[in-house]
Amino acid sequence: MKMIRKTAVCLAAFLLLTLGLGGCQISQEPETRTVFAMDTVITLTAYGENAGKALDAAVQKLNDYDLLLDVDSGDIGAVNENAGEFVGVSEEVYKLLSDCVEFSRQTDGAFDLTVGRYINLWGFRSQTRVPSDEEIAEAAEFVGWEQIELADGKVKIPEGMQLDLGAVAKGFVAGKLKELLTEYGIESAILSLGGNVTTLGEKPDGSQFVVAIRDPNDPDAYLDTVNVSDTAVVTSGSYMRYFDVDGVRYHHIIDPETGKPADSGLVSVTVICTDDTAADAYATAFFVMGAEKTSEFLKDRPEINVIMVETNGEIIRVN
Ligand code: ADP
Ligand code: MG
Repeated sequence: MKMIRKTAVCLAAFLLLTLGLGGCQISQEPETRTVFAMDTVITLTAYGENAGKALDAAVQKLNDYDLLLDVDSGDIGAVNENAGEFVGVSEEVYKLLSDCVEFSRQTDGAFDLTVGRYINLWGFRSQTRVPSDEEIAEAAEFVGWEQIELADGKVKIPEGMQLDLGAVAKGFVAGKLKELLTEYGIESAILSLGGNVTTLGEKPDGSQFVVAIRDPNDPDAYLDTVNVSDTAVVTSGSYMRYFDVDGVRYHHIIDPETGKPADSGLVSVTVICTDDTAADAYATAFFVMGAEKTSEFLKDRPEINVIMVETNGEIIRVN
């Protein structure tokens, strides 16, 4: 059994494409920091006088958030460890968890941060393996976003349940880092956290940032580019993290209904919208929902642009 992590390679290519497609002359040299955090390679690029100082503060904050949102440490770790009891969490984690419950409600549970037991079972945080149907049925007892209780800054999950913020943490942190950079007076930045790219303002020359969307079938190619400012471009895909057993591919986006890797006919979903946290949650949810349900969902949400790639290679753009 072989666990394959292509994130670093993918990110390097992604970044090169992101930075290399400018076209126009930029008036200032950017400052860049590249670190490994949140289980992926992260590259933060900012323009402006204070950029170096701002990015150093951002790296510090990134590491703090990494601990805060991890399943085993910080606020989320405390909620998991004390399942069955109300646990006080920071204001921003409380807000994030409240938002997550709302994303679950909107997406009819396609996004569900209570999938922790399934993630453990499939070993995506340790040694990957294919669990039996019995094991999945057993874990299903402890999955279900409706069972999260939120009240007065405290959170309670039933005993046996495990929260997992993997589907939303990078988006949330990307948004928070943009806020921090703004406090440092930065008006132009592009942050790349795994499959999450987000932009603050425009490039110093007034043009938009150009973000390349990777071809899920070819790590060296890209499907498309999008021109954005103050917007997130978030991709979830079955090619991001997976393992193969006996010729079958098992990836890390779980359909909460089945407890198994989502099989909706998509290989990747890219969400383009201004809210970083929502973009990340939706990318995961849409991957589970598939093209038809996602298109229906987006009918009265024109502010969210989506590019989906089906297993047969067909590209579907909505909005
Ligand atoms: P990536 O981590 O590659 O950016 P995603 O944002 O789609 O991709 O998040 C996938 C991660 O989210 C998984 O590794 C797991 O921790 C968690 N997860 C898997 N399925 C779901 C789901 N249906 N709802 C919420 N979280 C999920
Ligand atoms: Mg996501």
